[in-house]
Amino acid sequence: MLREIVFFTDSHARGEVTVFDTTLRDGEQTPGIAFTFEQKLEIARQLSAIGVYQIEAGFPASSKAEKETVSAIKKLGCEAKICGLARMTKADVDACLDCDVDMVHVFIPTSDIQRVHTINKSREEVLAISDKIVRYVRDHIALCMFSAMDATRTDRDYLIEVFQTAADAGATIINVPDTVGVISPSAMKQLITRIAREVDCPIDVHCHNDFGLAVANTIAAVEAGASQVQVTVNGLGERAGNADLAQTVMIMESIYRINTGIRKERLVETSRLVSRFSGIAIPPTQPVVGDNVFSHESGIHSHGMIKCSETFEPGIMTPEMVGHRRRLTLGKHVGRHAVRQMLTDAHIDPSDGQLDTIVEKVKAIASKGKRVTDADLYEIAESAMGIELSHKMLTLQDIAIMTGNHVIPTASVKATVSGNERVHSAVGNGPVDAALNAILGVIPSRIQLKEFNIEAISGGSDAMCHVTIAVEDEHGRIFDASGSGDDIVLSSVEALVNAINLINRA
Ligand code: MN
Repeated sequence: MLREIVFFTDSHARGEVTVFDTTLRDGEQTPGIAFTFEQKLEIARQLSAIGVYQIEAGFPASSKAEKETVSAIKKLGCEAKICGLARMTKADVDACLDCDVDMVHVFIPTSDIQRVHTINKSREEVLAISDKIVRYVRDHIALCMFSAMDATRTDRDYLIEVFQTAADAGATIINVPDTVGVISPSAMKQLITRIAREVDCPIDVHCHNDFGLAVANTIAAVEAGASQVQVTVNGLGERAGNADLAQTVMIMESIYRINTGIRKERLVETSRLVSRFSGIAIPPTQPVVGDNVFSHESGIHSHGMIKCSETFEPGIMTPEMVGHRRRLTLGKHVGRHAVRQMLTDAHIDPSDGQLDTIVEKVKAIASKGKRVTDADLYEIAESAMGIELSHKMLTLQDIAIMTGNHVIPTASVKATVSGNERVHSAVGNGPVDAALNAILGVIPSRIQLKEFNIEAISGGSDAMCHVTIAVEDEHGRIFDASGSGDDIVLSSVEALVNAINLINRA
């Protein structure tokens, strides 16, 4: 059915495009980001596990620590090929070779503006250096990527000459970087078409997002024959970043039907891992991986979604495909069908009149800008229906938390769980983490924390805070609840206990 309504570019029933990830190189050049050694290894493992073909692990000549990191990543024995970046000098190439990389990526500025202002070499000198260094790389190693830095602002005839020189010297792939993110998709298509026609070498493309066109330009290059794309997780990178991995992959797979070899069902998990390590939050509206991508709030959309999920989603991209989840959210646009569905899921069955009351109440709370959690909904239903629904699995009795500059944050709890008294203690990164870990430790079922959100309601260090927590039970069902007060740890504990107590009722 979908085949009829979606426009596929037929010329792209064309085999495979490989993914080259530069999160650890260009991504790490994002202002304000510095991954730790351990985080870099973890990211490399993840990228390899999801099927990235090549990982640019770093720039070994830039520092001793960088060189050690690239070596360590290579030693992980990942399935992905490991690449190191080098300027066009033997010393830089040697630094890569010392790390035992699978491929050396050499680059040199070719646009007049960068050539004159950064390396101060003539066009002829750039050709001679490229020839010499690419040959040097190939004398030592099987794979060499050649980048003409600022290719999109380079005189076209000269650019062809540069790429021909690199290909003749033995470059195994040529990279066309839109270094400052200034090309348009149609111009990119023309440029790649010409290079593909005149230079006999596979083409890779590296696009920047200064005008928000990184992904579009990458796709345009693929349309014109590029066989590899450079991306970063969450689009990290210098300035406005690079082409986003999840978006680029899903466009190729779902719209163009190109096989990328990526395990798409792990895209959301990968995005969250890098978000956590980089400290850069994913906006809710971020394509593919954002929280809102498969969330539906308005009455008309939710009603459609309940009947057929393809009504208000792309269909060719589902939450299951990318490791996401679909959810109906409660807000001021919510409709009767969505509320009825959410209550049915929790085995709550109001009459039509009671449902009207519940919907009105939800809308009233939401219009004040407050998030309506599952716990709020059940409470509203209880009062509208005049019944007591709750059977609390978990009742907290005591909690004690220790934290300081020379101790590992530790928490111990005493609680009643389904009538039995239980005690547990746990450590954490901080007092909140320790407290939540201790509570999760007293309950028998496997419950995971999926979301933790804290808001300071008023300014100052005595601010009231409001914590919202979502938990996932062993069946993959998600419940959210909140807690508030003037103690950040106790508010978090309250939110978690409330969320856990929702699980039994569903
Ligand atoms: Mn770049």
